[in-house]
Amino acid sequence: MTEILVLENVVKKFGKIVALNVDRLGIEEGTYNVILGPSGAGKSTMLRIVAGLDYPDSGKIFLEGKDITDKPPWERDIGFVFQNYALYPHITVYDNIAMPLRVKGLKEEEIKQRVTEVLKIMSIEEHINKYPRQLSGGQQQRVALARAIIKRPKLLLLDEPLSNLDAKVRIELRSYLKSLQRQLNITALHVTHDQSEAMAIADNLVILHDGAVEQVGSPKEVYENPKTTFVATFIGMLNVLPASAFKLTDGFDALGFRPENAEISENKVEGAIEGEVKYVEYQGDETIIYVDVENNSIRIRDRENRFFEAGKKVYIKIKKAFAFKDGKVVKVVELS
Ligand code: ADP
Repeated sequence: MTEILVLENVVKKFGKIVALNVDRLGIEEGTYNVILGPSGAGKSTMLRIVAGLDYPDSGKIFLEGKDITDKPPWERDIGFVFQNYALYPHITVYDNIAMPLRVKGLKEEEIKQRVTEVLKIMSIEEHINKYPRQLSGGQQQRVALARAIIKRPKLLLLDEPLSNLDAKVRIELRSYLKSLQRQLNITALHVTHDQSEAMAIADNLVILHDGAVEQVGSPKEVYENPKTTFVATFIGMLNVLPASAFKLTDGFDALGFRPENAEISENKVEGAIEGEVKYVEYQGDETIIYVDVENNSIRIRDRENRFFEAGKKVYIKIKKAFAFKDGKVVKVVELS
């Protein structure tokens, strides 16, 4: 696979704040990449710098091997979709989508053909003569997407594109985004703070923390093999217990395990740790059992939906855990 976008030693500061500090990040052509991280991690800064809406203090950005670091946005061959759609309210859907081609100076005939084609791909043909205010949020975002892809950019940037939509439309549009990306073989870089959105849509997650890239990998890789304590705790649910709870001092500070990677039992089991049930949350397809272990609150996911009285003594057998040392995952421990 070819890397279409590369960031090298990119640093961006705002006063004393280091908003972005990326040693190297390479994005493979034709993949859907989601930049994920807590608020303030540098996600928007990264996207703005790639778009050319902001410039790094140092470092370089390459698109298809060409240095674009100093190029203005309109010379970058990049499409951008914003959270708030950013459509022109006073012109029709057709004219909104045609705008980038008109700016480029294409003939009306070719514009008409390309707009019609994109409207069809996006299933919004019936709205062609409407104004943005006559459309729902989901429809407006499709128009914004159509406008972003009409120039067939090398890279599509999406900044929280689904955040303003209600839950049902968000889920519909995210699967649509993914299939559109596959169909057109676009390379996408999508910023979100929504984990389930990221997990659902991404070929690769780029996990940002304090401006730096902590880990890049498929959702499965990142969930099952996190490299740092931050990634392990940020992606999905994780229970963390100090090494002392295991009567082990095997070169690590703490153990982290997912709620589905432990079994709970009323009977004493070899190698299990002891705890006391705090409460039980019935969720239909599963039950989450909250247990206190030496004053640490942990959660166990039980697919059998068993019920345990509060105060009951239970035994927890951990099947898979991450061993943490100095903020890194030093070992993935599989316990039988
Ligand atoms: P995210 O998108 O992950 O929430 P941002 O990229 O917006 O993070 O911000 C990263 C850091 O840079 C934050 O600490 C933020 O306060 C700071 N920052 C971003 N833009 C500016 C700006 N224009 N002026 C000053 N500080 C900024």
